[in-house]
Amino acid sequence: MSDMDDEVAENTALIQRLRVWGRSLPARLADLVAPPRCLACGDEVVATAALCPQCWAKITFIEEPVCAVMGLPLDFDQGEGAVSGAALANPPDWDRARGAVVFDDHSRPLIHALKYHDRMEVAPFMAGAMARAGRRLLAEADVLVPVPLHRWRLWWRRFNQSAVLAQRLGEATGRPVEVLALRRVKRTRSQVGLSQAERETNVARAFAVADPEAFRGRRVVLVDDVLTTGATANACARTLKRAGAARVDVLVFGLVVTARRPHIDDEE
Ligand SMILES: [Zn+2]
Repeated sequence: MSDMDDEVAENTALIQRLRVWGRSLPARLADLVAPPRCLACGDEVVATAALCPQCWAKITFIEEPVCAVMGLPLDFDQGEGAVSGAALANPPDWDRARGAVVFDDHSRPLIHALKYHDRMEVAPFMAGAMARAGRRLLAEADVLVPVPLHRWRLWWRRFNQSAVLAQRLGEATGRPVEVLALRRVKRTRSQVGLSQAERETNVARAFAVADPEAFRGRRVVLVDDVLTTGATANACARTLKRAGAARVDVLVFGLVVTARRPHIDDEE
């Protein structure tokens, strides 16, 4: 087998193992002895809820009108296809991005719960909100592709939160999900604390397609948990477009909407 085959086989085995694990055994045992808690404030919640009603009400869902390219809320409705100044000034390589909620102190606990704490029960809520925000993108998609983690990071994290969300969205929409078709070939350092330019350099040429023909002429929805500066999504979009993708849209749960981006540590 080639190195690439080896790596794909290794990734596949990992993912299968992780699917079986799901939530860790300690987390499952903890559920038996302690009631479920709100991810944000720690109050008791009913078994399947991730947030208490008070914290739920603080989540800011992103509603139309939004910038057709960046998904950022627009102050007033400028009609179909309106594009923000930010998108005109610095056009990304993707076609359309949509986010379900504003990434802020209230949505961050949900994102971190899935990403860092094995709380798989938040995935249905996150994917449900994404399906709503991205309904048009999903309706026009040929394939869903999660932003990949490098296999070492996958090993450490144990699962790729973006793949979990993509699989949920695939189940909900009937669209195929390609977890291994886009690969992270360069082990990039974490984007924590990097400027926009540094992030772009960090992720340049970090991604590759496993099969050069896999995306030719296809409309792709790239799935991630958050979109901050967009450097990672843009590098993925560029790779997919070079591989012949007809369209690359980006669908995330949390979208950073402020010009200032203090303490953003959620994009890799
Ligand atoms: Zn709460």
